[in-house]
This record gives sequence, C-alpha cells and structure tokens, in this order.
Amino acid sequence: MTARLLIVGPQGSGKGTQGVRIAEAFGVPAISTGDTFRAAIRDQTPLGVEVKAIIEAGNLVPDEVTSAVVRERLAQDDAAPGFLLDGYPRNLGQVNDLDAFLESRDEQLDAVIELSVPRQESIDRLITRAAEQGRTDDTAEVIAHRLSIYENETAPILGVYGERGLVVSIDGVGTLDEITERIVTALVARGLTPQG
Ligand code: ADP
Repeated sequence: MTARLLIVGPQGSGKGTQGVRIAEAFGVPAISTGDTFRAAIRDQTPLGVEVKAIIEAGNLVPDEVTSAVVRERLAQDDAAPGFLLDGYPRNLGQVNDLDAFLESRDEQLDAVIELSVPRQESIDRLITRAAEQGRTDDTAEVIAHRLSIYENETAPILGVYGERGLVVSIDGVGTLDEITERIVTALVARGLTPQG
C-alpha cells in the first residue's frame, strides 16, 4: 500500500503540524520544503546561502532550485512507499515539475489535502507563532506578502488538482486531534489505509 499525498493550505492553516501527523498515520515521510530550507540556512550549506535572503523577504525560491531539492528527497529509499509533501508544489510550474518526476517513475498522487481556514484566523495564528518561535519571515509585512503569494500563485494549483479529482477539502478550524481525525477519515474514504 502506498500513500502519495500533498497538503496545501495558507500560511497559518496548520498544515505543517497536520502534515507530520498524517504522514505518521500512513507510514510515509513528511517532507516540508520550508523546513528543508530553514535547516539549510541554519547549517549554512550552499543551498542555505542561496535561499536565505529570498525566504526572509517572503518570496518563492526559484522553481528549478526547489524542484531539484524535492526530486532528490523523493528519490531516497524511505519515500518508496510514498510521501506527504508540505509546501510543494506551490505554483503551477512546480505542479508540472512534480508531474514530470512522478511520470518518469510511473507513480501517481493519491490525494491532495486542502486545509481551509478563514483569513483572519490564519493571520491570528501566524502572529502567535511569531511571538513563540521568532521566525524571521513572520513579521506583519512579510506575512501579508506570503499570504498574497499564496492566493495568487498557490491557490490556483487546487483548481488543477481539483479537475483531476484529487482534492480532499478539510475544515481546518478545530482542535488538532479533530482536524487530524477529519483528514484520516477523508483519506480512508478514498481507499487509503492507515498503518497499524
Ligand atoms: P509558510 O507556509 O508559512 O510560508 P513554509 O515553511 O512552507 O512556510 O515556507 C517558508 C518559505 O520557504 C516560503 O515563504 C518560501 O520562501 C520558501 N519555500 C517553501 N516552499 C517553497 C516552494 N515550494 N517553492 C518556493 N519557495 C518555497
């Protein structure tokens, strides 16, 4: 049984937290491009040096850089039974890159989880997170910029995946456990099987 999943939602929707939980439930690695870039910046790797200023400004890292990072990660052995991608694809170019990669391996996505939260709720959550974690891209100005990129560039990918019948829309307001349960139930209804 494989599970190839994407989780898509605006900043502050809780997709990182839910992504880890869902990946664990289905026995696949959770792969977050944002986490990968932050680790690279922290470790001052060549990738980190390349993307630091872009991320701090709230802009998207160029597709060729991001897609190369994802391809390399998905080619590792632990992603053979599947994966949960958080934060990728983030625009239509990246959808094409992922399509080409999966096609070359004769693999298909099983579902795209859309986590919806009202705009004001996601802004409130980001402001709380800024106070707790001090992420350098969580200032009011950069948050607004990232949300507008989400609306203009990322939300349209849901139209493409929706046409393919892959989108599972989940209400992202509730307790962490309630939301995890909603996602698991919706994926089971699509024929996916959680691990033990
Ligand atoms: P958020 O969803 O709160 O923006 P992420 O951790 O997903 O947080 O991403 C943080 C930053 O990393 C983004 O603002 C962007 O600069 C960069 N990034 C992450 N994923 C991608 C991607 N798929 N394409 C381009 N840039 C990305």
